[in-house]
Amino acid sequence: MADFITRFAPSPTGPLHLGHAYSALLAHDMARAVGGKFLLRIEDIDSTRSRTSWEEQIYDDLTWLGITWDDTPVRQSDRLLEYKQALHTLWDRGLLYPCTCTRRDIAAAASAPQEGTEPAYGPDGLIYPGTCRTKTDSRAAFPEHQALRLDIRKALDAVDQSEFCYTEQSSGIDKTLCIPAQDMVKDVGDIVLSRRDFLGSYHLSVVLDDASQGITHVVRGKDIQPATHIHILLQSLLGLTTPTYHHHRLIRDENGKRLAKRDDARAIATYRAEGKTPGDIRHMVGL
Ligand code: GLU
Ligand code: ZN
Repeated sequence: MADFITRFAPSPTGPLHLGHAYSALLAHDMARAVGGKFLLRIEDIDSTRSRTSWEEQIYDDLTWLGITWDDTPVRQSDRLLEYKQALHTLWDRGLLYPCTCTRRDIAAAASAPQEGTEPAYGPDGLIYPGTCRTKTDSRAAFPEHQALRLDIRKALDAVDQSEFCYTEQSSGIDKTLCIPAQDMVKDVGDIVLSRRDFLGSYHLSVVLDDASQGITHVVRGKDIQPATHIHILLQSLLGLTTPTYHHHRLIRDENGKRLAKRDDARAIATYRAEGKTPGDIRHMVGL
């Protein structure tokens, strides 16, 4: 196995823009510099938003940028069985419960606590107030077509670790970043691991996929860094190896605003149509 295996994992829900190009080029260059592997993963788990036409355009844009990948791209839509098995395992261990709350229910419950406390936000938005936590008998059959949340307290008991750490590599220097277990309760809470509208979730699939692709180095944007503690906890729960992480700077527009996925003006395809070269794109993202 290569010492360095990284990946680019776009969601085919829109065009690749400059931010994606930076992420893909950076990971690709890092792999090529050390003779490692660069893999692709199409994060099309959300079938309501993913389109194969966007997937085709991703391959096309990456190829135009001069990026090559070392194996057949993995598509999350082909891996639903593995996600399901992991969910069943977590269910059988009593770590999940079904949640029927709407966004509005959660907002109402979260903003009606003790006087003077502000609702807390985590990597997935409002910290879940726990409304459904004890509604279902944990010995019940696996609930189909319902949102499933991780009972964070039970999960922490199950792994019995006082802190969750990972290695963050930046400018070639390794830093160990840790979060105490008790902070996971207030800063993360009971996150959704399987959605009502599709089986699984970003957090679940990303850890299973990185493990199954043998990823040693995850290169991705700083916007996802707050979710990394969730991923470390899930790796512990599922007995998976934690890779090294490199959360890179985000590409901003001239006003310092982060580029949105919907910002078609920054789409790679738009620059191509305007006659820009792959070298121009590298220059624009500071590579
Ligand atoms: N699919 C995610 C995105 O498009 C990437 C997630 C990751 O790299 O872990 O932002
Ligand atoms: Zn609920």
